[in-house]
Order: sequence, then structure tokens, then C-alpha cells
Amino acid sequence: MANAGVISRRGFARLLGVGVATAGLRPLGAARAVSLRPRAPEGAVRLSSNENPYGPSPAALAAIREACSLAWRYPDEAADLLLADLAKHHGVPAECLLLGAGSSEILKLAASACLDGGKKLAMADPSFEALGNYARVRGAEVVKVPLDATFAHDLPALAAASAGLVYLCNPNNPTASLTPKAKVRAFLEAQPATTAVLVDEAYHHYVDSADYESVVPLVQAHPNLIVARTFSKIYGMAGLRLGYAIAQPAVIKKLAEQGAWDSVNVLALAAARASVNDAAYAAEGKKRNAALRAEVVGAVSALGFKVIPSQANFIMIDAKKPVVPIITALKDRGVLVGRLFPALPQHLRVTIGTPEQMHRFLEAFSSAMG
Ligand code: PLP
Repeated sequence: MANAGVISRRGFARLLGVGVATAGLRPLGAARAVSLRPRAPEGAVRLSSNENPYGPSPAALAAIREACSLAWRYPDEAADLLLADLAKHHGVPAECLLLGAGSSEILKLAASACLDGGKKLAMADPSFEALGNYARVRGAEVVKVPLDATFAHDLPALAAASAGLVYLCNPNNPTASLTPKAKVRAFLEAQPATTAVLVDEAYHHYVDSADYESVVPLVQAHPNLIVARTFSKIYGMAGLRLGYAIAQPAVIKKLAEQGAWDSVNVLALAAARASVNDAAYAAEGKKRNAALRAEVVGAVSALGFKVIPSQANFIMIDAKKPVVPIITALKDRGVLVGRLFPALPQHLRVTIGTPEQMHRFLEAFSSAMG
């Protein structure tokens, strides 16, 4: 009789009746997370994913260390504590909030909850692609609407799509541009109850234009509005994976039904809580980003290239020629920048990193373009 304790992988495969057919499978350890992001070679400057190189605040790091002692527990109480703080922060009941493993999970839940029965998704082009991808996988038609001449969402065209779900990314990734607050308000007013609107505010904290407002306060008046927020950007927690939705309780329930139980973890929850309660860290990050962004835009302009006015932690440069070879040339010089966005094939998206990183980018850019 075989001793289960010493059974080999091959023996186990035979027991399952698959013989050596598994030989061609990748070893489990090589499995990769699904993402569009390039992998950063050793020593490369990573300005490709709009991450915040300063990372979590000191208070968040201290909270993570403390929360390690809770790693053995499911995240129930830690989630309740964060939800209570977020409810206070936004002035909404906790029933209007749903946590996710990054705002990506919120986008995925929206695709699952809002696109049944042949409903369409309408979204800008270019915009952050994730929701479009989730919708397509569900078999939903995705209607892409080009940004207008000011790089704002073309709201009349999005409305004309008669979609089950409209995605507004404000500020928009990859253009870092805004869709003006009055137009967003009017758009929300005009949507029928059958159209859900997801406003993605991932870059909310970086905005300083008076033409922008968060739509969180409008949730109370709009049963079809979902707002997505993330801890990945200004709070520097992209690797910890935490985001959330704000919507009316009935919508939150519909979204939650589509989710996995316990997709958030106690370390991220503790860090998020410390971050929400540390307004000074976000304010400092915003100021630092704006100052360095202005310097980089100045340097890029001096080289003869226009930049779309940015309200985020990245910029979109008009490279005046196809961008893919430029992306490769920068990579060869140790600098990773954003991917190709086919609707703007001559624009290069660059994250604002640290002063040293931006120095390396400017050197590489000037040499690659020269
Ligand atoms: N929304 C926008 C507009 C983004 O740019 C990103 C990431 O870059 C995300 C959502 C997803 O962020 P996360 O899942 O880390 O919260």
C-alpha cells in the first residue's frame, strides 16, 4: 500500500488519472498575478503604474506592525473599525460603504452587478481599462466614447449609449484631465434609474482645480451612483490592496453579493485607518506632487513637448510621434513609463515619482527623443 506521506508528485498525478500529462504545466510557484503592468527589471525606475514611491505614512506603517499580531484572525472587527472611520470621514452611514481588495475589486463587482441581461458598459477612450475588460469577460458590449477636445468625458455621447453602466474616471487615467463638476452633476441628474454610473475617484486627492468636485456628497440623491476610491495612490498602499465603494445601501448590497468573503486583510485595514486619520500626510503628498509635477512639465516643455494639464500624480506628454518605440527606448535606459493607450498613440504617460527618479526620466527622455 502506498504511503501517503511520501507520495511523489508524479505518483499523485497518476492517482488522479492524468499520468505524466501534467509535465507541460507551469510549476505552481511560477503563476503570476494577472495585470497589464510591465515587470520592473532590477534597478529600473518605475514610473509606469501611477504608484506613490513615498509609500504608506509613518502612522500607517506603525499600524501595520501592530496589526501583525492580528494576522491569525479574520478581518471582521478591523473592517468594522475602518468602515466606522470612513463613514465619519465621508459623512455617510457605514451601510453606504463596501471595502474591496483595491478599487479594482469594486470595478469588477460593478461589472458583475450592473451588466446582466445584455446591458452595455459605456466608457471614455482612453480611460482606465479594467472595467472594460471585466465587462467584456462577462459578455457585455463595451461602447467606447472618445474624450472631447479638452480631454474631458464626452457626457452627451456617453448618455446616448443607453448603457446599463457608465464609467466616469475623474480625473481620468491616462490623461490626468478633469470632467467639469457642473457637467458631471447635470449628467447624473439626467440618467434614468436603469443606468448605473460609476465615478472612479482614484486620483481625487491630487486635484486642485476649482472646476472639480467629488461626487460622494451626491450619493444620497442618486440611487444609481457608485463612487470608487482607493488607498493605492496618495496613501501609497498599492501593494496592500484596499479600496472601497460609496453608494446607497441597496446598491452596496448588490455589489457585495458578487464579492468574495473576506477579500481584505487586517494589515491593509489597519494601515488604511491610520491613513484616513492622517490628513496631513495626504496634504503633504499633494503639495509635493504638484511642485515636482510643475518642474517636470517645465523641463518637458523646454524640450519642445506639450503636456496635457495634469490634475493627478502622472502626466501625459504629446511625444509627436508613435509612442511604442519611445517606451522601448526609455526601458533600454532603465526607465519604465506607461503603456500604449491606442486612442492616443503618440502620448506618453509618466508617473511623478521622486526628484531622483524624475531626473533619471528627464535624462532618458531627452536622450531617447534627441
Ligand atoms: N482606477 C483608476 C483610475 C486607476 O488608475 C487604478 C490604478 O491605477 C485603479 C482604479 C485600480 O487601483 P487599485 O485597484 O490599486 O485601487
